[in-house]
Amino acid sequence: MAEDCIFCKIAGGQIGALVYEDDQVAAFNDLKPQAPVHVLIVPKKHIEKIADIRDDDAHLIGHILVVANKIAEERGVAEDGYRVVANNGTGAGQSVWHVHFHLLGGRPMRWPPG
Ligand code: 5GP
Ligand code: ZN
Repeated sequence: MAEDCIFCKIAGGQIGALVYEDDQVAAFNDLKPQAPVHVLIVPKKHIEKIADIRDDDAHLIGHILVVANKIAEERGVAEDGYRVVANNGTGAGQSVWHVHFHLLGGRPMRWPPG
């Protein structure tokens, strides 16, 4: 856990509500949802950004996608389709420096994202 990291605090249960939790991963609703379903899935381990992911994290990151699928099923967006996206770096729109995957669903998605 990193001091002053909001997602470490949320994942650790100190602030807000989780929609999913296991020993490695936590998920919670985005504060400013961009779709009817907008869940953030994070590793409990503090990793600043996608570019910092290393071989040792491969299972953890794969597990996040398994969790994303599970949440998409539970929230009823699995059949119509959903997007899982992670922004790496300021230029890509990253604003919180703890790796997170956005799960977006419940409306049509355009491509490419802006
Ligand atoms: P990024 O821009 O880094 O890809 O995504 C960060 C996301 O975190 C944004 O969608 C933003 O709305 C969300 N967010 C920022 N602060 C908080 C917070 O304190 N709680 C929750 N639930 N979401 C947050
Ligand atoms: Zn953190």
